[in-house]
Amino acid sequence: MRLGFVGLGSMGLHMARRLCDAGHELVVFDLNDAAVQTLVDAGAKRADSVSELANQVECGLVCLPTPDIVDTVLIGEGGLGAGSVRTIVDLSTSGPSAAQRIGAELGRRGIRLVDAPVSGGTIGAEAGTLTIMISGEDAAYHDVRLALEAIGKNLFYLGGQPGLAQLMKLINNTLCAVSAISAFEGLVLGAKAGLDPQTMLDVINVSSGQSFATSIKIPQCVVNRSFPPRFTSALLDKDVRLCLAEAERLGVTMPISQQTRQFIAFALSQGYGDQDYGNLIKIFEGWAGTQFGTQTAQEPVA
Ligand code: NAD
Repeated sequence: MRLGFVGLGSMGLHMARRLCDAGHELVVFDLNDAAVQTLVDAGAKRADSVSELANQVECGLVCLPTPDIVDTVLIGEGGLGAGSVRTIVDLSTSGPSAAQRIGAELGRRGIRLVDAPVSGGTIGAEAGTLTIMISGEDAAYHDVRLALEAIGKNLFYLGGQPGLAQLMKLINNTLCAVSAISAFEGLVLGAKAGLDPQTMLDVINVSSGQSFATSIKIPQCVVNRSFPPRFTSALLDKDVRLCLAEAERLGVTMPISQQTRQFIAFALSQGYGDQDYGNLIKIFEGWAGTQFGTQTAQEPVA
């Protein structure tokens, strides 16, 4: 099956490259021509628009920033859903409501939507070790499974109900946000009191306060003050907002996640939207008048 890929950003670039490397015939498009050229150099074929791509492939994969953009690219005029494509895989975090609405519209056009949001960050995307949460028609999943196996290591099929995988992903990312923000405030407290930053991480990571933030994010990106661009605060904000909207729709109260959302909204108002969310520790540092960690001479992790 000839594949198309739209959205060659922090995540999509690595995923598309892995598909090329695994021998899939791939046509790519992104608004950023430099990203397209990188994939062309890796063996992919360039399309000059979504509609050009849509007429050359049977299956289109997308990894795009927001539900609105996913909507436009999939079911907008000249979108992926207007060409010869019969199956679309949405690797973006676009939320259950968008998945249900877009899936229904694609269904009316005879196109199957496989919901496949991912977790594992840019490092996981590059290494092909992503977790992929999948929902949609069983047969459609079966048809795209080989492609997904080139991208991820842990594949979870969560059933046929549209949007279920998206909800799973939102729950995961909201937990990630809550634990990262609470780790930031705790570690800044320790730094102000004179505890050594690395020692704090060493203690926490063999104790009950351990999380993805303390074991991976902060050791790789924060304690050495490298703050590599991996996952923007604006995208994290989008995920927590989508999760809370779903909670409200289902009558579920999430006060802790609400607090986290308010903190991230404040961070966005202070200009952190385009920065990796590791930078949000600087807000707590500013309030406390201290710094957690120091810049090392090492090359920052990519
Ligand atoms: P990104 O902003 O780095 O990349 C998005 C890409 O989409 C860009 O290259 C952009 O040019 C392209 N794009 C935007 N509009 C387009 C359009 N209309 N047509 C074609 N291309 C278009 O975003 P990202 O960090 O790669 O995230 C993509 C999705 O994956 C998001 O939904 C995000 O929540 C999710 N995600 C990201 C991470 C991460 O660590 N960055 C991890 C898991 C999931």
